[in-house]
Formats: sequence, structure tokens, C-alpha cells
Amino acid sequence: MSSEIQRCTRCVMDTTDPWIRFDSGGICQYCHLHDRLEQEYPLDSSGEDVFYGIIDEIKRRGANKPYDCVIGVSGGTDSTYQLYLAKKLHLRPLVVHFDNGWDTEIAVSNIKNATEKLGFDLYTYVVNWEEFKNLQIAFLKASTPDCEIPTDIGIKATLYRAAAENDIQYIVNGHSFRTEGKVPIMWSYGDGRYIKSVQKIYGSMKLSSFPNFTLFDLFYYSYLKHIKQFRLLYYFPYNKKSIKELLKKELDWQDYGGHHYESVYTRFYQGYILPEKFGIDKRKREFSALIRSGQLGRRQALDILNNTAPMPKDQAKSDRIYVIKKLGLSNDEFFDIMRQKPRSFLEFPNYYNILKRYRTVITSLYKLVSHSTPPILMEMEPSCHANVSSQVKTTH
Ligand SMILES: [Zn+2]
Repeated sequence: MSSEIQRCTRCVMDTTDPWIRFDSGGICQYCHLHDRLEQEYPLDSSGEDVFYGIIDEIKRRGANKPYDCVIGVSGGTDSTYQLYLAKKLHLRPLVVHFDNGWDTEIAVSNIKNATEKLGFDLYTYVVNWEEFKNLQIAFLKASTPDCEIPTDIGIKATLYRAAAENDIQYIVNGHSFRTEGKVPIMWSYGDGRYIKSVQKIYGSMKLSSFPNFTLFDLFYYSYLKHIKQFRLLYYFPYNKKSIKELLKKELDWQDYGGHHYESVYTRFYQGYILPEKFGIDKRKREFSALIRSGQLGRRQALDILNNTAPMPKDQAKSDRIYVIKKLGLSNDEFFDIMRQKPRSFLEFPNYYNILKRYRTVITSLYKLVSHSTPPILMEMEPSCHANVSSQVKTTH
């Protein structure tokens, strides 16, 4: 590791995130954000009261309807655990899967096993592959680290559409700050306008069927259709290791070896494109979350980061061959993309400045309908910037 890289004294986030800030004790803003969320979502009786109040409301608003909530599922730990919890809580979800063409066989069998065993209906949205492939290639050519944004935005839009079409008022959101943490904006940023601008510049076809999600959609679904998001996992002491064992035992769930590795493209993007081209190791985000919630030692995390690659070489090679072929690129085209100078979303038209300028208003409105802060705005909130000084402390 370069001696110029500076790291948080509590977690393992470091200056490979250019917007990281440290307080006078060398603690980063993501650790402060974690502490604030721990206060907002306490694992005690007060948190329980709020939680069961929301569960009752979901059931009340969904009474006499076929479903009372939408749950998105990828086949990974978090979303499968949400299905398991939904059954325990006697919720009646419509399970929704966004099939972007990159599912691993394990993901497909995990989704099938879980929905069949729990008796839930599954709706799978399959993308128009030619169009989606064109959009993925456009993001690769844009040379920003945001090449998984088309999937993230497509999932979000598909969940809202499924909720609206089935008269469902709640979307259960699978984020877990205790095990995932917050992705730095400079590592991954996405919105509907950004999607359109990248496709316009680097795509070779118009997006006609891709489920995009614009600011208009946010307001339409939130304020006109009254669809709320609910972060179920925020209310649970979520221990990743024991949850995996539980899912294996109860739902024949199989592990796939890495966070979001249920998709071949995500695995390759996180394990190869991000570290090789952008110097970003996303394991730092997950490890940091686990350190903050007491599930992983900091020294152990540093040992893994310093001594192992994000992806074994042979797997990187076989995934690379598969991805290049599936996207219809030549080796030269792919390696040209890998050599392009990294760029940032700030160089493209998007909603970032609007969101930043009006974050207080948008956050307040969003909290009214969602019991939570929009994920994209969390890091921009003033409270996360409290006690932050320019003093940087280096630890290794
Ligand atoms: Zn930190």
C-alpha cells in the first residue's frame, strides 16, 4: 500500500475515496454516519416499538389486497434474509427480481428455493438485452467507476413500478448499514439523468424500454402514489455469518463467496474493473461496516486487504473472457476501455447539484413518506460533517 494513502483510525476506509474526511481523532465521516444510524435505529425496546408500529401499518394498508409489500430479491444474503423475516412477520410480499442477464446459476437457484419454500409469488422483470448491453457498454466507455448504476437504477424503477401496478404501498429496502455501510459517492453515483446523458454520449441506441428512474418518478411514486420504502434490516442485529448458516439450513441457500457476487458482471466489476482501473477495493466498505458493528477485527480486515486480491487471478481471467464475449466487445476494445483515464460523474449532466442544493427540503419530504433518508443524500447531510477537521491521521 502506498505511504500516501491515509486511513480512518476506526475502520479501514481510506483516501482512495477522494471525498473522505477525518475528524481530529482521525475518524471518518462514514463512522460518524454509522453512529448516527445506530442512534436512529436502536436495537432496544424503543426501536422495537417503532418497528412493530411500521409492520402493523404495512399490514393495515395492505389488508384485503393480494400483497402488502414488494421485496426485491437478488439471491444474495440480504435479500434472501428479508424474505425469511417477511415470512416470520406474516407479511405478504410480492417478490420482484430484476434479471439483467448476468445472474449466476447459484442466484437463480437461491431465488427459486427461497420463494418456493416460503410460498411467495415471484415476478421477474427481464431486460431487453440488446438495449441493456448497449447501456452497460456506454458506461464502460464513459470511464467512470459507476458502471453498475444501470442495474441499480433498473432495480429501483422495477420495484416502484411493480408496487404501483399492484396497488402496493410499501417497498422493503434491503440495505443494511451494519453489514454494508455507505458507498462513497465518488465510488458509485447514479441517477436517472446521469443514465440518459451517458447513453446519449456513448450509447448507439435510444433507451426505449429500460426502466429508468428520474426525479419525476421519485415524486410521482412517493407523493402521488404514496409508496414508501422501509429498511427492514435496520431494525435487526444482523450478524452476517450466522444469517448465512440460517439461510443454508432453512432455505437451501448457497453462498457465492463475495458481497453482491450473485451477478457475474457485479463480481467482475468489483473484483477486477474497480481495483484495476480505478484503484477502488470495495471490500473496504463492507469490512468497515463489519468492524463498526463488531463483526470483524480491524487488524484481521487489514490483513485480508493487504494480503489478498479482491478476486483470484484465474477467476478474473475466466470472468473477463465471459464478460467480453457476452458484451460483444473485442479484446482490444475492452483493454482500450481499461486504459482510458478515469473520469467522474461530475463531468456529466446529472441531478447531483440539485440534490445537494435542496437536500434539506428533499430529505424532509422523503422522510415523511419513507421513514428514512434517501440513501444518496445520507452522506451529504450536515450532521455527517460535524466535528470534521482537515487534520488527517495516518494509520496502517
Ligand atoms: Zn471510519
